[in-house]
Amino acid sequence: MEGSLTARDRVGIQDFVLLDAYTSETAFMDNLRKRFNENLIYTYIGTLLVSVNPYKELGIYTKKQMDIYMGVNFFELPPHIFALADNVYRTMISETSNHFILISGESGAGKTEASKKVLQFYAVCCPSTRLLDNVRDRLLLSNPVLEAFGNAKTLKNDNSSRFGKYMDIQFDHQGAAVGGHVLSYLLEKSRVVHQNHGERNFHIFYQLVEGGEDELLRWLGLERNCQNYRFLIQGECAKVSSINDKSDWKTVQKALIIIEFSEKDIEDLFAILASVLHLGNVHFGASALGYATLNSSAEVHWLSKVLSTDTSIKFSNNYALEVYIVMPVLPSYFVLFNFFFFFEQFCINFCNEKLQQLFIQLTLKSEQEEYEMEGIEWEPVPYFNNKIICDLVEEKHRGIISILDEECLRPGEATDFTFLEKLEEKMCGHPHFVTHKLADQKTRKTLERGEFRLLHYAGEVTYSVAGKLFNVATQFKSSLAGLTEILMTKEPWYVRCLKPNHCKQPDRFDDVMVRHQVKYLGLMEHLRVRRAGFAYRRRYEVFLKRYKALCPDTWPHWKGTPAEGVQRLIKHLGYKPDEYKMGRTKIFIRHPRTLFAIEDAFEIC
Ligand code: ATP
Ligand code: MG
Repeated sequence: MEGSLTARDRVGIQDFVLLDAYTSETAFMDNLRKRFNENLIYTYIGTLLVSVNPYKELGIYTKKQMDIYMGVNFFELPPHIFALADNVYRTMISETSNHFILISGESGAGKTEASKKVLQFYAVCCPSTRLLDNVRDRLLLSNPVLEAFGNAKTLKNDNSSRFGKYMDIQFDHQGAAVGGHVLSYLLEKSRVVHQNHGERNFHIFYQLVEGGEDELLRWLGLERNCQNYRFLIQGECAKVSSINDKSDWKTVQKALIIIEFSEKDIEDLFAILASVLHLGNVHFGASALGYATLNSSAEVHWLSKVLSTDTSIKFSNNYALEVYIVMPVLPSYFVLFNFFFFFEQFCINFCNEKLQQLFIQLTLKSEQEEYEMEGIEWEPVPYFNNKIICDLVEEKHRGIISILDEECLRPGEATDFTFLEKLEEKMCGHPHFVTHKLADQKTRKTLERGEFRLLHYAGEVTYSVAGKLFNVATQFKSSLAGLTEILMTKEPWYVRCLKPNHCKQPDRFDDVMVRHQVKYLGLMEHLRVRRAGFAYRRRYEVFLKRYKALCPDTWPHWKGTPAEGVQRLIKHLGYKPDEYKMGRTKIFIRHPRTLFAIEDAFEIC
């Protein structure tokens, strides 16, 4: 019966807002699956872009595609990351306002790829001069360098970003990129010294060993064999079929030069990388008196040589090395690892929790509040506000980070267990916090005594308190608060990336797995708010100023109030009552298509 299917039956709907059964998760999933099976990986919820990783090349990111999407109204073409990028850009120019695009999703969902597509689009489509080409090249080429040093093969993703990335592009009034920043935060430093089974160290180490020129390797005292380096083989997968370390090395080399690392900087960089590999092979023994002894004269020789120091090596460079350097002299070697794992995981999850909070504040909450403020009648949409979890972590005097700080101020007295006891005392009865002691019988079986579990919005995570805790958590909290503050002043755009299966395979859509992501990314709630809401709103003065030429009564001057003028204007345009609502200070238009119609009329006149 294939032939009798309508296009809509076959390829689904390109904007979930237009779905008839918009409250049904099943209908949502059906639409997503249908489109995925047709290689249509993008779908909108209003202006939010949902993307499902295809795990195959679709040929949809060509220059030709960019041209198609450039300067065209958002909803006129099939959904695409280029459409979003273009719309953000044009809104920025026409409204001279600041914007940000938040790309989120779990590991392997396609965030990095999406961010690269956005950058490529801007690189090709923004006007430029020769001077600005430089900015563009730097922005584009910073990527391979960042990925070499910050990405690694994990079980979930062969090119997993082990750091958070904030990229900032500044445009001038003509819309040309004039500058930019790339900030990275939370690099998973512990990976330098420890990799789980099936995972690798950061790509750059393998690139150096596989691709480094003979002369360079000789100078660094390295051999062309990853198997010789302990820090490269713990995961037992130094070679990865989807990765070509040799050719990636060449790309990174070129990029380093274009982004203007000096020859000396590059040399230093390689020396540090080599020193990490030599350090990894250093062996310690124990003397009769129980002191640590160094049993690796060859490695130490190379260390001092490549770092140009004597054997009492000083590491002033605060590169990822710092984690390792303290480790061999500490007796509690593994405890420290535990600590770092705990800590990194905790920070990353807290960061995601904060970003979700920002999403809620900027879309769900503020949307509902605006309707209330404007006196627009509407039914409030219930949603889960994860503020309660953010507070649990960061609240002053009462949150986990504050308690951690207090404990750190009691050296000698405080231990992992007094920390846990304090948490238990303060968090007792909190619906998102549980420990062995606080748990009910069934949950207790799943928890050890030195652990606590947080019920994050995306799922449960158990943390171990073993190992002494530092108060860097406070620093992290404030840098995150800084980031959130910056973002709060800009207009948000969202790309939500979904991962279709655990096996990194094309054409496989695992329903349970996708449904879980749809749930925790709050997509159904977002859809309900969008559907109940209005796609477009403008203050009466702004709306009237833009469109008054379309109505003889309002053109060239309207004498009454702006609200009355808008009323007259839309009556003239023949808007139906369910297409718009008049608020206290703004007009709300339900669907963007209504607006495009007047934009087109405007262009004709
Ligand atoms: P992590 O959180 O681990 O960094 P991520 O969300 O950044 O994960 P990506 O590295 O962007 O995930 O994507 C993982 C892999 O999926 C890519 O290396 C690529 O093979 C594939 N992929 C992602 N997006 C696309 C796409 N749009 N088209 C084709 N393949 C894609
Ligand atoms: Mg990534």
